Amino acid sequence: MKVITRFPPSPTGKLQLGNARTALFNYLFAKHHGGSFLFRLEDTDRERSKKEFEADIVESLSWLGLKHDTKEVWRQSERGDIYKAKLKDLVDRNLAYISKESELPTEAKADFASPKKREGEKRDEVIRFRNPNKVITFADLIRGEIKFDTTELGDFVIAKSMEEPIYHLAVVIDDAEMDITHIIRGEDGISNTPRQILIQEAFGFQRPQYAHVPLILAPDRTKLSKRRGAIPVSEYRAQGFLPEAVVNYLALLGWNPGTDKELFSLDELIQSFDLTKVQKGGAVFGEEKMRWVNKEYLKREGAPSLIPHIPSTLSAGKTSTQVSAIAEMLFERISVFSDIQKDSESGELDYLLKEPEYPKELLQWKKATEEPKSHLEKTLSILANVSPENFTKSDIKDALMPYAELKGKGNVLWPMRVALSGKEQSPDPFTLGACLGKEVTLVRLTHALAMV
Ligand code: GLU
Repeated sequence: MKVITRFPPSPTGKLQLGNARTALFNYLFAKHHGGSFLFRLEDTDRERSKKEFEADIVESLSWLGLKHDTKEVWRQSERGDIYKAKLKDLVDRNLAYISKESELPTEAKADFASPKKREGEKRDEVIRFRNPNKVITFADLIRGEIKFDTTELGDFVIAKSMEEPIYHLAVVIDDAEMDITHIIRGEDGISNTPRQILIQEAFGFQRPQYAHVPLILAPDRTKLSKRRGAIPVSEYRAQGFLPEAVVNYLALLGWNPGTDKELFSLDELIQSFDLTKVQKGGAVFGEEKMRWVNKEYLKREGAPSLIPHIPSTLSAGKTSTQVSAIAEMLFERISVFSDIQKDSESGELDYLLKEPEYPKELLQWKKATEEPKSHLEKTLSILANVSPENFTKSDIKDALMPYAELKGKGNVLWPMRVALSGKEQSPDPFTLGACLGKEVTLVRLTHALAMV
């Protein structure tokens, strides 16, 4: 049997992390088994479905690298005739019936909003499913056997009219027509499953296997929501997260391979993914962990990958040697590209832009055994002999280290560092010198010398 999974988002919002993870699990499971991963748009709520959300979902999935195998676009809004014919078949076979009622039952209100008839409007009929009132048992691949007595559902509504099926009916028909073998979806879908199984049975469709994945929780174990850390995938993309890192992190939300390994490429995830290793309990989202994963991927790219992300305010007028030095310096500090912007806006990097102001006492290292004056003089004369083209971190270090080791590193390097950054804490003086270039370095050292 060829495995076929699906991701059927409703385009009523941007692609959130939780849904992206559902898509990922469906993708991994299908690919692990050499199967297909299908996509369809459940865009029947015409008021809340928006093209811009559709575009966001499609672009985010493709950015994550979750390529689907669906050839044509499946859009529920374009499949009305198919649902209508199927609904008629159920009514003709007396497995569903037209029920005269004056108000739309609440269970049907939430769904399949029609452009013609809205909630609260008077109507004279709905279509109800003739419930055989039996106990449905299904084997959930994550949660084990689930039993549900469907008697409590009564003759539930499957359409608002012969033209307006509600979600359960459309999903069952689409899943059958797409030959879906495995339905992997959020835990909040569990309560829909017994209804959907009853409808499948009425049509004589094969029952797919189900796997309900745990919800993603905020750090305080409440449901992850916009206010509690959930931002759309496209927003992480805009912040400069790497797609491989987001995929890797999402895979770890509720799944682990049973080993200590935490970093996986998409191919490695396909290899190792196993639904039986998905946990039952909620998976707690942690922004710090996600940043850590991103940093691990950044390390693989190396410091030069930062260069295109350095704002022009920081790079203007600098040589390529200086820009490379700045990239290396920033690389030590950041986990995500957008951190660069934050650092530069916070003023933390102002010493790259203009000569810092600082009290002259700061030039004196607290544990100094000697006055900074003679060391600043000697530092200046040593650096004056380093060629401006090779004013790199290692050249500066090679030039200064013998003297610094002779006189005590703190005595020599502290005043130089303060002269260049004006700060008590900053990157090391060799890095600073390389970022600033020879000319600026010498000017700042000369000004410091004038102060003492
Ligand atoms: N359109 C539904 C949603 O976005 C899909 C649920 C399902 O996977 O059956 O929640």
